[in-house]
Amino acid sequence: MQRVSAPYIAGPTLDDARRTVARLNAEGKLATVDVLGEEVRRPEEAEAIAAAYQETLAAIAADGLRAGVSVKLTALGLEIDRDLCRSLLAEVVADAAAKGRFVRIDMEDSSCTDATLELYRGLREAGRDNVGIVLQSCLKRSLADVAALADLRPDVRLCKGIYIEPEEVAYRDPDEIRASYLRILDALLEAGSYVALATHDEWLIRRSLERVAGRGSGEYEIQFLLGVREERASELVSAGHRLRVYVPYGDRWYEYSTRRLQENPAIAWTIAKATLGRLAPRRGR
Ligand code: FAD
Repeated sequence: MQRVSAPYIAGPTLDDARRTVARLNAEGKLATVDVLGEEVRRPEEAEAIAAAYQETLAAIAADGLRAGVSVKLTALGLEIDRDLCRSLLAEVVADAAAKGRFVRIDMEDSSCTDATLELYRGLREAGRDNVGIVLQSCLKRSLADVAALADLRPDVRLCKGIYIEPEEVAYRDPDEIRASYLRILDALLEAGSYVALATHDEWLIRRSLERVAGRGSGEYEIQFLLGVREERASELVSAGHRLRVYVPYGDRWYEYSTRRLQENPAIAWTIAKATLGRLAPRRGR
């Protein structure tokens, strides 16, 4: 299980994440570090995850690494107590701000979208600008979300979306998802947003890069998951693009992966997706 999963996760400990980020930095790549945790059921678990993020931020700062963090709001207690989640998120973002670091709020399934955007808006209206969100091109609502958020000029990671969504809210056809991605990208660029292009889809990378051609590194970056298309990532760095790698670490992942592998031993990519979408199968499970 460890052999199959190794490329997609830094390892179980913070030291593993530090080493991985240092290696990526040496290759000219930036990082965003995700502390793995599964759905939390008790406030103490959410508090422990928030504390792990603060430890991570301290380590990143101590090592002078070029990295920020990515957080999932359900891991900070979104589904137990929204106020607890709001306050834990505010603490992590304040801590990151004090260390000059950026916090990306990952986007989870569509049942979380409104709450995620509301908490994000709250932080921005409170004056925090070291925080960004994610929009998913599979969701039919995302273009409208760009318009609704325009007053904040949000820093947005744009991805296809990893969650299995009902057809009333999401596109299913891969071409429609790609077309939606490019429409949202155009709208974000038009609105003056900084955009993180999070996709390994070569067709989409090329179309997206055509759209950002001539823009400086202060306007966009490319994001890949750890262990996926590393050579392509290096090529993009050599071509002068700012590129960030999503680096998950944590011991809880091993428990999770073992279960996933038992369910479906053939598919290693499922594991990579699981690091992002580990909360995804809630609907069908
Ligand atoms: P795909 O069509 O899945 O893949 C395109 C191509 O990439 C494949 O054809 C193949 O050539 C290559 N590829 C794919 N897997 C592998 C592999 N294991 N090894 C080698 N090559 C491979 N989703 C969310 O819902 N919320 C988030 O917050 C979120 N954050 C993300 C952050 C980052 C940095 C990235 C890269 C993705 C994130 N995602 C998130 C996941 C995203 O939504 C997609 O589900 C995921 O990236 C797969 O879509 P794709 O665009 O890469 O295209």
